[in-house]
Amino acid sequence: MNSIKEFSKLDKAFDAAKFSSKLSNIYRRFKTTASDGKFEEMEPYLTPELYQKISSETAVRAKSGKVLYTERITILGTELLGFETEVGFDRIFADVRVRAVEYVADIKTRKRLSGSAEEQFMTVRVVLRRESGRVSPQLTGISAQNCPYCGAPVNINKSSKCDYCGRVLNTDSFDWLIESAEIH
Ligand SMILES: [Zn+2]
Repeated sequence: MNSIKEFSKLDKAFDAAKFSSKLSNIYRRFKTTASDGKFEEMEPYLTPELYQKISSETAVRAKSGKVLYTERITILGTELLGFETEVGFDRIFADVRVRAVEYVADIKTRKRLSGSAEEQFMTVRVVLRRESGRVSPQLTGISAQNCPYCGAPVNINKSSKCDYCGRVLNTDSFDWLIESAEIH
C-alpha cells in the first residue's frame, strides 16, 4: 500500500481532510439509512455490488419481520491508511472508528430481539474505489447532467432524484464509491 501523502501525485486536487470528513458523513448515513428503511439514498455512494448485497440482506431480514437497527451513532475518527492502484481502479483504504448501539429489532415495534443495547466501539475498514485516471472534481456549479442509471437529463439544482426513474442522485462532488465496509 502507498502512503496517502503520495496520492496528490495522481490527483493534485485531492484533499485528505475533506475526504475524511466526507467519508465520516457518508458512513453515518450508510448506517442510519439502513435502519430507517431509506437505504436507496445510499445507491450513489456504494459500488453496485455492495449496494445489491446490503439491499438483499435487508430485504431478507425484513421478510422475517426484522431490521438491523443502529442508533446513537458517533463517528470518533477516520484514518486514511493508504492507497493502491490497479488496472482500472484506484482504491483508498480507511479505518473509521465508530461508537454506536446496534441490534436486531422487530421491524414494526423496534423492540430489541438480539444484540446488545449497550454502546459498542468498532473500527470499520472501509475500501473506496474510483476509476483510475479520475481526479477530484472542482466545484463547478454544474446545473445539468444525465442520470447515471437511466440516462435521462436531470437538473441537479432542482432535485436530487431523477424525474424519470426516481433514483437518488449524488448531488455533491464526491466521486468515490464504498466497495466494502467490514468491522475488524
Ligand atoms: Zn434516472
